[in-house]
This record gives sequence, C-alpha cells and structure tokens, in this order.
Amino acid sequence: MKKNKKIKCINCNKEFDIMLDTKPFCSKRCSYIDLNNWLDEKYSIQINEENYEKDM
Ligand SMILES: [Zn+2]
Repeated sequence: MKKNKKIKCINCNKEFDIMLDTKPFCSKRCSYIDLNNWLDEKYSIQINEENYEKDM
C-alpha cells in the first residue's frame, strides 16, 4: 500500500509530501527563511535588552 502522507510546512503552512528531503519545510527556500527569522529574533532580543538598560 502506498500512502502519500502530507504535512504542513512549519514556515508557510503549505501542505507538502512528507517524503521530501526538505521537511519540515516545503522547500529549501522556506528552510532558509525560517533560519533567517530565527537569527533575526536572536539579534532583536539582544538589541531589546540593551534598550531596556538605557530606559531604566
Ligand atoms: Zn513552506
């Protein structure tokens, strides 16, 4: 029996075949976007902490 399971991309919520190498993303582009978002968050958190110190 062949069952093509589909899962949702954790970046854009688009459904794609679970057999793809790019999972949990629908495409390589989505995996790069997610990585960039993650890095951006990390940097923005550091910047926010600096701003808090100045405000105090
Ligand atoms: Zn995607």
